[in-house]
Amino acid sequence: MYNIKSKQAKEFIDHQEILDTLKYAYDNRNNRMLIESLIEKASLCRGLSHREAALLLECDQPDLMERIFHLAKEIKRKFYGNRIVMFAPLYLSNYCVNGCVYCPYHAKNRTITRKKLSQEEIRREVVALQDMGHKRLALEVGEDPRRNPIDYILESIRTIYGIHHKNGAIRRVNVNIAATTVENYRRLKDAGIGTYILFQETYDKENYEALHPTGPKSDYAYHTEAMDRAMEGGIDDVGIGVLFGLNTYRYDFVGLLMHAEHLEATFGVGPHTVSVPRICPANDISTHDFPNAISDEMFCRIVAVIRIAVPYTGMIISTREPETVRRRVLELGISQISGGSRTSVGGYAVPETIEENSAQFDVSDRRTLDEIVNWLLDLGHIPSFCTACYREGRTGDRFMSLVKRGQIANCCQPNALMTLKEYLEDYASPDTKEKGIHLIREELEHIPNPKIRGIALKNLQEIENGKRDFRF
Ligand code: SF4
Ligand code: SF4
Repeated sequence: MYNIKSKQAKEFIDHQEILDTLKYAYDNRNNRMLIESLIEKASLCRGLSHREAALLLECDQPDLMERIFHLAKEIKRKFYGNRIVMFAPLYLSNYCVNGCVYCPYHAKNRTITRKKLSQEEIRREVVALQDMGHKRLALEVGEDPRRNPIDYILESIRTIYGIHHKNGAIRRVNVNIAATTVENYRRLKDAGIGTYILFQETYDKENYEALHPTGPKSDYAYHTEAMDRAMEGGIDDVGIGVLFGLNTYRYDFVGLLMHAEHLEATFGVGPHTVSVPRICPANDISTHDFPNAISDEMFCRIVAVIRIAVPYTGMIISTREPETVRRRVLELGISQISGGSRTSVGGYAVPETIEENSAQFDVSDRRTLDEIVNWLLDLGHIPSFCTACYREGRTGDRFMSLVKRGQIANCCQPNALMTLKEYLEDYASPDTKEKGIHLIREELEHIPNPKIRGIALKNLQEIENGKRDFRF
C-alpha cells in the first residue's frame, strides 16, 4: 500500500502505485487539455508530482514536447542561470564483494586489475587533481567491509581535505559509498562530507534482485532505505539516481520522483542532486546485454521532465556521455558535470595502460578539464568551481529555503565568477584565460544586487593580486 511517509521501501516505492501511474500516463497520453494544464502548472516552478511528470514523459505530440523542452530550458535559466558546477570523481578502491551484473567491479570479475590506494597514493591523486584546477570531488569506493572499511574512508577524507598544493585545495568531498548504518552516516557527516550519493540503480524490486544476485547490496529494502538512515545520521544533502537502461526507463523515472517526494515529505527536504547515468560499456560489460538501454532522444526528454518536476534539485551527468549529448542536456537542466575524469583507481597521477584496466566504465568525453572549461565558455556557460554553500553551512533546508526565495542568484553568480577567476589565474591555458576574462566582464552585470556586485568586483581584483578563497 502506497505511503509516502512510510519508513519501509516497499511502501514509499509502492510497486502498484508505479504501475497505476504508468497506466494513467499511457491512458492520458493524447489528452491535450490535461497535458497543456500540466505544462501551465509546471511553469509556476513549484514542481510536479510523479503522476503528472510521468504523463509529460509519455506525451508524444511534437508541439507539446517542444513546449516541454522550452519550459525546461526556462526553468534551468531561472534557477541556475548559465552556470555549470565542475567536479571530478576520485576512485579509491575497486575491491567489491557485490555481484552487480552491470559493473566490472563485481566480485567474480577476474579480468580487472584490483587496486586500493594508500594514503600516500591518495595524496598524489589529489595533487594531480588540484593541478588540473578541481575543488570538488566525488569519492567512489567499492563495497568491501574488510578492505574498504569506514575507517579507511574517513581517513582518506581527512587526507584529502588536508592537502594544499600551491594555490590548490579540495573544498568539498562528496561521497559515493555503499548503503550503511546510521552510525556510519553520522561519522561521515562529522568528517565534513558534502553530499552523500547513492544510486538506486533500479527501483523495480524483482529486477533489482536479479541484477544484484550476491553480496550485501542484494538487499533491496536496506539499499532503498539508505537515504532515510543518512538523513537520520544528520546528512542533509543526499544525491539520488538510477542507472537508466537497467530496467524500463518509465518505471525508474517514476520511482526516482517518488523517492524524492518521500524524502521531502519525511524530512522536509528533497534530494540535493539527481544523477542521470546511462548504462554504458565497460571491461566485461556490453550494452547489448541490456535491451532497455535508452536513445539519446529519450535521455534528453527524461532530463527535461526531471528539470520541470524538481526545479530546486541539482542535476548531474558524468563523462559517460559524449560531448554532443552533454551539450544538449546542459541547456535542458543539467547543473553539474565532471571534467577530465579518470574512472580508474589511481588514474590521475599515473594514467593506466589498457592491460592494467581498473576502470569502472569507459569514458566517452575524454577531453581535459581545460578543454571542457574552454568549450563551456564557447557555449556561453560559466564553469563554476564553487563550493560555498556547504562551507557556509547552507545545506539541507537552509539551502532549499535560499533557492526557493530566489536568493541563490546573489550567491551563485558572484561565487561562480570568483572561482572561475581563480581557475583562470592558476590553471588555464592562455586561450581559455582570455575567453574566461571576457565572460567574467560581461557576467558581472548579471549579479542582481549592486552591493554584492561591488564586493565581487573588488574580490576579483584581489584574486588577480594573488589572494584566494572568497565566497558569498
Ligand atoms: Fe560494487 Fe558498486 Fe560496482 Fe556494484 S556497482 S559491483 S557495489 S562497485
Ligand atoms: Fe552551489 Fe551554493 Fe555555490 Fe550556488 S553558491 S554554486 S548553490 S555551492
